[in-house]
Amino acid sequence: MLLQELREQVVYYGRQMLESGLTMHTGGNLSARDRETGLIAIKPSSKPYDLLKPEDITVIDIEGNVVDGPYKPSSEWPMHTLIYKTHPRVCAVVHCHSIYATAAAAAGQEIPLFNHELCMYCSSPVRVMPFEIPGSDALGESAIRGFGTDNCVTLLQNHGPIAMGASLWHAFDAACAVEQAAHALFITKAYGQLQLIPEEGRKALRACDPLQREDTGKVEIIAV
Ligand code: 13P
Ligand code: ZN
Repeated sequence: MLLQELREQVVYYGRQMLESGLTMHTGGNLSARDRETGLIAIKPSSKPYDLLKPEDITVIDIEGNVVDGPYKPSSEWPMHTLIYKTHPRVCAVVHCHSIYATAAAAAGQEIPLFNHELCMYCSSPVRVMPFEIPGSDALGESAIRGFGTDNCVTLLQNHGPIAMGASLWHAFDAACAVEQAAHALFITKAYGQLQLIPEEGRKALRACDPLQREDTGKVEIIAV
């Protein structure tokens, strides 16, 4: 099967998105790019994560043409491919509608750098980008502006977060980080004044640039 390992990873991390509460039913999408061929394994559109098998995952080229797989690719393929075209080191994208990050985006609330996890993926507060039609080229361009040159995560207003990384391990980790931070931000506001991590600490955390880091955290792919 073409891109077997990446298709297995898409299935595995799709289930992780479901189990960790980053998504429900069919919402959001994820993809991984093969470094050698440049082909992309992407979740098929509108299919429930828990029913997906590796052979159900769609393989597309960088222009969005379907190369393999029985289903049409995620409707957000223009955003995924634009990210890969813009960031050659990025080989994975995770987009979800997780509750706290989506709520922050709806409120236009950027996420400041106050917790450990997010500082590993961002050098600047997580930006909120204006609403664009889902599936449009404009949404992809907005995501690119949201990442800038300093962040691996951004928030799409009235929609949800999007994260990129060197591998699905990293992109999923970054999507978890922004959801955790948005959740903690909401609670922190009830406690009182938010304290940011000092610049020195932020730099030290960011020094382990997730795009360069070895994929040491890679989990064993569960047989499906
Ligand atoms: P797809 O099912 O087409 O991937 O759409 C889900 C989504 O999150 C759209 O933004
Ligand atoms: Zn979406």
